[in-house]
Amino acid sequence: MMENVTPNVRTETHSRGCNPSYVTTSGGVVVIDTPQLPTKALAMRAEAESHGPIQYVINTEHHVDHIFGNYYFKGAGQVIHHKGVYDNFMVPTPLLDPFDYAREAIPMNDPEGAGIFPERDVYFVDPNKAQIVFTGDVTLKVGDHTFNLIWTPGHTPGQVAVHVPEERVVFTGDTVFSEVQTWVMASDVDQWIEALNTISRLDVDHVIPGHGPVTDLRYLQTQKAVLLEWKSAVAMAVAKGWSRDETIARVNFADRYPVDIGQEYMMGYIQRHNAGILWDKLSANQE
Ligand SMILES: [Zn+2]
Repeated sequence: MMENVTPNVRTETHSRGCNPSYVTTSGGVVVIDTPQLPTKALAMRAEAESHGPIQYVINTEHHVDHIFGNYYFKGAGQVIHHKGVYDNFMVPTPLLDPFDYAREAIPMNDPEGAGIFPERDVYFVDPNKAQIVFTGDVTLKVGDHTFNLIWTPGHTPGQVAVHVPEERVVFTGDTVFSEVQTWVMASDVDQWIEALNTISRLDVDHVIPGHGPVTDLRYLQTQKAVLLEWKSAVAMAVAKGWSRDETIARVNFADRYPVDIGQEYMMGYIQRHNAGILWDKLSANQE
């Protein structure tokens, strides 16, 4: 069930994956991040197309929960994302194979989607990556609406915030985890804080986060505090001479927020890797 944020802006905050959204304009529809679950992706595409043709599909970052659903939006306008998204699109890392992560969600969260979930080799023939790849910032004009794609690296290298001034809305991707656990992992925390500063200077009423409920600019300070807490707690651990394992055992913010819907089983993974990867960087003087 999609939620109306403004008369032209809809988002979905209640199913597994990111908060996929779309904006209706006099010139068609713009989709911002696609649903990870197949049946949700097809349903959102149909709903969006009932308001007019989809002109663009924008991805705010390369993480699987923001891009996997692109597969179900083939032929629906042009896909546009930052070069940092393009270069990392569904690329496995030592920690996670994004295709496996998308597949493991199906029996748990979308059993009806099993029949339309592709085989790996079929999927990678055309996962619907961008036709338009950019660096820096980009502005799109669609009908009477403006879409400012603002490069805000930190959570990921190709992160963008999508500011729609006519709706007084910004879509941040995972630069904002609203009242749910923050996946710090390999992020650049200092850049991420600068990204929050950039977004906080926008003149908007609504912040549509990557995960969790729609919020406002005040929450950006809470997000900043969460990042600084993680970093200072691990920095203090390094200062005390704690080993990586000791740090993982002792630095833990699991009691602060739940994990976003459908990924509750990842709580231990998030705590372990947030602490462990920060320890790697801080103990090597790379953060
Ligand atoms: Zn996400």
